[in-house]
Amino acid sequence: MRLDKYICKSTEFSLTDALALIENKRAAVNGIVAIEASYQVHKNNSVTLDGETLTPRKSRYFVLHKPTDMICSNVDEKYPSVLNLLDIDRVSELHIAGRLDADTTGLVLVTDDGHWSFNLTSPKNNCEKVYKVLLSRPISADATQRFLEGVLLQGEAKLTLPAKLDIIDSYNVLLTLTEGRFHQVKRMFTAIGNRVKSLHRQQIGDLELDVEVGHWRSLTHGEVEALS
Ligand code: URA
Repeated sequence: MRLDKYICKSTEFSLTDALALIENKRAAVNGIVAIEASYQVHKNNSVTLDGETLTPRKSRYFVLHKPTDMICSNVDEKYPSVLNLLDIDRVSELHIAGRLDADTTGLVLVTDDGHWSFNLTSPKNNCEKVYKVLLSRPISADATQRFLEGVLLQGEAKLTLPAKLDIIDSYNVLLTLTEGRFHQVKRMFTAIGNRVKSLHRQQIGDLELDVEVGHWRSLTHGEVEALS
């Protein structure tokens, strides 16, 4: 973790305060005054501020049920950020691991652990995301095979990774993806001549959405580990 972030995570100082503290040579790593805010602090480093050893707070992990007309961003734009749903301290330290569109509902993970969210969202991790999709036209007979083989999204050169399609009925399907390209689900259905009417993410890895719309809960240690 960067030194400036480490100071924020261990104190009540803001990032701006942390930068000023570092500039004023009040922080040290392993007894040596640190002047680079971007200095990478490792697990067994000892960081002090004015001679006092700092201990970072534990990382936080949440699952929330995103309603429509809220956005997965740290700032409010046309719609408010889903982070407004979290009535807890230091919300500005959190970020969203795997965004959903404003009109998509469902499972969103929120954390302040950048390594965890990076690994989780990396396509190398092969973490499955399950989407429930309502279509505007009946699903075509060849859709399952085409998604398994991969489709070419408009403007892209690489086929999508194999995706699993489970047909509930002609307008309702479940799509399981292991990658997360921009508007991927909507673009995959466009690529096969259909259109998504509504979209809901119901599962990431083994974690199924179990909170009501607009609500959230902390992840258990076991859930955090299982998604690592
Ligand atoms: N794919 C989409 O098209 N939209 C989402 O919100 C998530 C996946």
